[in-house]
Parts: sequence; C-alpha cells; structure tokens
Amino acid sequence: MTQKREYDGRDRALGMDRPITRRDFLNGVAVGATAATWFAPGSGHLFAASLSAARGEAAPLSGAAQDAHGYYPPLLNGLRGSHPGAFEDAHALRDGHAWSDATDTGEEYDLIVVGGGISGLSAAHFYRTHTPRSRVLILDNHDDFGGHAKRNEFHLDGRVHLMNGGTLEIDSPRPYGPVAAGLLETLGLDVPAIARTTQHPKFYTDLGLRSGAFFDRETFGADKLVVGYEADQRGGNHAPHLDALLRQAPLSDRARMDVVRLETATIDYMPDASSDEKKRRLSRMSYETFLRDVVKADPAVLKFYRARTMGEWGVGTDAVSALDCWAFDFPGFQGMQLSRGSIPQMGYTPSGYADTGGSFKLHFPDGNATIARLLVRNLIPSAVPGQGVADVVTARVDYSQLDRPGRGMQLRLNSIVIRARHIDGAPPATAVEVTYLRGGRPYTARARGVVMACYNVMIPYLCPELPQAQKDALHKLVKTPLVYTSVALRNCEAFHRLKLYRVYAPGSYHCYVRLNPHVEIGSYRSSSSPQEPILVHMVRTPCSPGLPEHDQNRAGRAELLTTSFETFERNIRDQLDRTLKEGGFDPAHDITAITVNRWPHGYAPEYNPLFDPDVPESERPHVVGRAQFGRIAIANSDAGGAAYTDSAINQGHRAVMELLNTDATRAAG
Ligand SMILES: Cc1cc2nc3c(=O)[nH]c(=O)nc-3n(C[C@H](O)[C@H](O)[C@H](O)COP(=O)(O)OP(=O)(O)OC[C@H]3O[C@@H](n4cnc5c(N)ncnc54)[C@H](O)[C@@H]3O)c2cc1C
Repeated sequence: MTQKREYDGRDRALGMDRPITRRDFLNGVAVGATAATWFAPGSGHLFAASLSAARGEAAPLSGAAQDAHGYYPPLLNGLRGSHPGAFEDAHALRDGHAWSDATDTGEEYDLIVVGGGISGLSAAHFYRTHTPRSRVLILDNHDDFGGHAKRNEFHLDGRVHLMNGGTLEIDSPRPYGPVAAGLLETLGLDVPAIARTTQHPKFYTDLGLRSGAFFDRETFGADKLVVGYEADQRGGNHAPHLDALLRQAPLSDRARMDVVRLETATIDYMPDASSDEKKRRLSRMSYETFLRDVVKADPAVLKFYRARTMGEWGVGTDAVSALDCWAFDFPGFQGMQLSRGSIPQMGYTPSGYADTGGSFKLHFPDGNATIARLLVRNLIPSAVPGQGVADVVTARVDYSQLDRPGRGMQLRLNSIVIRARHIDGAPPATAVEVTYLRGGRPYTARARGVVMACYNVMIPYLCPELPQAQKDALHKLVKTPLVYTSVALRNCEAFHRLKLYRVYAPGSYHCYVRLNPHVEIGSYRSSSSPQEPILVHMVRTPCSPGLPEHDQNRAGRAELLTTSFETFERNIRDQLDRTLKEGGFDPAHDITAITVNRWPHGYAPEYNPLFDPDVPESERPHVVGRAQFGRIAIANSDAGGAAYTDSAINQGHRAVMELLNTDATRAAG
C-alpha cells in the first residue's frame, strides 16, 4: 500500500512532496501505458516506472515476463542498475539458502552463458560464429540485457533523451586488441569515423560554459560554487588566475596558496632521488600521503582533492597511489622530472595510459549500451529493428523476441543462476546442468558447455566443486561500488546563467555533476538550447576512507544496498539546489525525473600497488580464478583484471575458445 508521507518545509522546497503521478506523466505517457501492462499476475504489484516504486512503495519488474506487451525497461526510473528483485536471491544463496524441487525445462543447449553483459553477449557471438548451427541460451538476473552497459531512456517534451546507466564509453587504457577491435568492426563500428562525425566535446565550452568546483558547508564551512575552476586542466591553471578564482572559495590563505603552488609550481619534492627511485617511492604512498607528507599541504587541500580519484577508481585519494595519480596528470608532479612510462608497481589503468595514451574514444548517447544492442541485433536480428550503427541508438528493442523457443539464440532475463554442475561424473563429463530462479522458482536446463560471464566473486557459490585455491582467488575479486544518477531537468537555464556545464564537488553526495554530453547520431539529437529539457549525469562512489581498498568497497556496497531511493532523491535535490541556486534553479519545479543507477558490484578489481601483493601476473587472483573447470569456462571483465569493455570482450572470447578446444580435443580422442 502506498503510504502518505509528511514532508517538512525544506523537503517541500526541494520538491519531495510533488505528486508522483505528475512525474510519471512528465516522463512520458508511454511510461504509464507500460506500467499498466507489466502487471505480474499473483504478485500484487504494478511494475510502475515511477518514483513511488523507487521509494520502496512497490517492487519493480522481478519475475515480469519479458515478452509482455510494452515491456521496455530502459524507460524505468527510480532505483535501477542492480534494481530491487535482481540480487536478493544471490545474497540468499551466499547466506546458505537452498532451493528444492526445481522444474526440469527439458531444454538442451550447446552453450549456456551466465550473464548478459558485454562479456556474455560477446561469448555468445564468438561461439555462434565458430559453430553457426549451435543452440545458445543466455541467462541474466536483470530485467534488461547489457550488464553494466545499460541505457536510461527519457521522453521529455515529446523527444527521446538518452543517458548511459553504467558503462560510459569506448575508452580503455590500452588500444583495443585484435579480438575486441575485430568484434567492433563486425558490429559495423568504425570508431574513429563515427567519433569524427557524432561527438561535440567542445559544445558547451563554445557556448561559453565552463567547469566549476562546489565547496560545501559541511566540509569547507560555507557553500560556494567557483565557476572557472578546472578539476582536470592538466597544468592549464595559471597561478594568478587560479589564485583569483580561489579567493572566492571558503579556503584559508594558506590552503589557497598551497593549491596554487601544487597546481602551478615546478617543484621537485624529491630532488636527491633518481626518476626510478622517485617512482618506486610514489608507488608505495597514497596521493593523500603525498599531499600531506611530501607537498606538506594544508589539511583543507587534502579535503579538496580527496574525491579527485573517485570517478576513475571509486575510492578517494587515500587508497590510490601517488604514482598512479601521476599517470593521470594529477597536480604536484610537474617539477619532479619523472621519466615516461610505467613500472610494474602500477595499476592496470594508469600503467596503460602511461605507456600507450589509451585506446580510441567514443561516447554513444546511451554509452556502451549501444554495443550491447548491436550485439543483440547480431545475435537475434528480429529483436532490434534496423541496420547499422546510426539507427540502433533510437531503435525500440522488441523484448518479446529475445527468448523464442526453438531459435538458435535465446536471451532470458529476470533469471538468476544459482547452480552449475557437471551431471555425469567428474569434469569434463559430457554436460552441465544449470539451475536458475525465475519469479522465485527454480528451473534447470542443460548444456555441453557453460560460460560464466557473471560477477566472478559469485562463482564459488554457483560451483562449490571448484578447487579450494581457485575459490579463494575468486573470493578476492571484490568489485567497486558506484552510482551513476540521471536527472531530467525541465531546462538548463540555471547552468547557462552560471556559465557552467560540469562541477567537481569533493564533499557533496555526488562528487561529479555534468550536463549530458552533446552527441548527434542518426536521428538522435541532443538538447541544444537552454530552454530545452536536458539530462544531468551525477556520480557517487560510496567508500570508507582509511580502510584498505576492498574493505572500502565492501562498506560502500553495504551502504548502497541499504540506501532508499528517497534518501538518494533528497540528496540529489539538495545538492542541485545548493550548487545551482545562484542561477535561479528551483529543484521542486525544474527536476522532472530521476534514475539512480546503483552498481554495488561495479568496476572489476584491478591491481592496486598500495594493498595487493606484488606477485607475477600468473599468480594474481583474476588469473587463478578464471581457470577452466571441465565444461565450465570463466569470462567477464573481472577475469581480465581490468574494468573495461575490451577486457569483457577478450575474456568472453578466451572462455569460448577454451570450451571449443575441449570439444575438439575430445572429438579427436
Ligand atoms: C558505472 C560504470 C561505468 C563504467 N564505465 C566504463 C567505460 O566508460 N568504459 C569501459 O570500457 N568500461 C566501463 N565500465 C566497466 C564495465 O564493467 C565493462 O566495460 C563492461 O561493461 C563489463 O561487462 P561484463 O559483461 O564483463 O560484466 P557486467 O556488465 O557486469 O555483466 C555481467 C552480467 O552478469 C549478471 N549476473 C551476475 N550474476 C549472475 C547470475 N548468478 N545469474 C545470471 N546473471 C548474473 C550481472 O547481473 C550482469 O548483468 C564501467 C562500469 C560501471 C559499473
């Protein structure tokens, strides 16, 4: 039952009391129509795409039939990402719950893929490419495919607006290798060519809008937006300009001068050491330690930089090495004469960028959800109408086509796998039985091989027969929690009045806020005038400073799973209000919809020289953990030790090749 809530004066000013139905309506009539058709018989819930559902007043989508008329999860608002109903059974399994009386579907496949993210979809593609007549089933626990590469779709004033619900863009620390680049080519993606014609990175700056920093009163003593401060200027902040800007900030003279010194002075803080020795030392201290003990910066300076690492690493400067930050051009190293290139004691991401400058880059309006859609079109053409890259962005996926019995390729959503076991003797045996839950009930299906393209940390619970050393390694693969929030605004006039398009907010609930990147592809158009509705992207990375990285990740995950949508909403409204109020922003009036993409299991873990043992690659947990186990092979970006789409693709390919080689070996024997 929906309960009427009482809101105080501040909540009312923020718009917490605004009628929910109004927001549903604003987010498109289609949402209301969709909600009406997603009624799950017997569940007692209406799967409304509404803030009321998100506030915990109704459960969304779990168990809903993906072939129901109007089923279209990208339109859902509220708590998305790991949405309610997607993960509770996994946690029950971890806590020892067992299910009995599984229904045998009688289905037999050549391959079952666990996880419909980019890795699982790629695995299915590679398998079907090698064995075109094979039968493949993908099972995923979410109500939509793509894994992290999810799409948020809003209909505002009659036009479609898109945002990535997770995986932001094609951008990796090293160039895509032949497997991943080859797959993009197969999907029709000529990345440099598309980038040239669709991306407008200077759209906002050409309009005179700039970056800014928001100092919040809880952290810095007063609320203040400083427009013109570039958080990633990479040496471009000049001393007099920076000093003048920061005079507006609630920083002491000492703190301000320390920031100016840090960002603009060319000081060698370790003049007696060689470049190699400096790098070795910097790899063993956090950036926070570097600022405090080496640069000897004021404590307020540490607070100001604390969140600078969060977008890339999901933890603060206390848990990222100074050398890894050097590779990202953080301030403080410009006078230290460090030689180019990585050393072994660097994380995957910084060392890749230091050595190669990174891969090509391309942002689709819905992020890498476009890659997931292209993969699904490649696997099940009838599900994604159209041809080519340009029209996939605006295509309306027909979810009822995904899981048609008797087709070579099936993709089953809302289906969480709880068991995978060899059924006729010790591995490699001849087949694997997979048990999954749908609508709370267990079902079984069989396959000659299984690719686990799911979160690797869960695999020991699905395959308890794995060798103990492998399970121990898999348990270490703790992912980084993070939240990407999409907020629909009636217009962006406040941003224009403030001459602002993005904000670094080190003490706020979300540490980054920015207007939707301007991309135009096919018939998709981005907002181009201040009066038009627009989406805002916000990033939050829950963590517990001071703990080792993985303990911070665990604490952040626990926080995420116990934070209600109402708490998110209040914090979002409060933050936008305080940041933009001098531009005339009115949260009660201007915010029309909110989608909180919550990823308790986000980025794949990467080597962190501050906390992880310095062992050869072959002994790292992601390598030990991904060993083939009979007819079960292990994929996902986790298995590559790299939180990137090319890693997800490469690992899907490796896992498939392992299974195909097993088949070939047995056939030859
Ligand atoms: C917020 C965010 C932003 C990112 N941005 C970028 C970026 O800009 N560029 C980039 O290259 N990478 C980015 N990444 C990294 C991203 O993880 C990879 O690029 C890629 O999308 C991972 O794909 P995957 O298939 O390996 O894993 P996932 O996308 O995690 O897919 C695994 C799927 O398996 C499902 N699953 C888990 N357990 C089960 C089970 N028992 N049964 C059934 N299904 C299960 C999961 O729910 C999920 O749907 C980002 C990640 C996050 C979280």
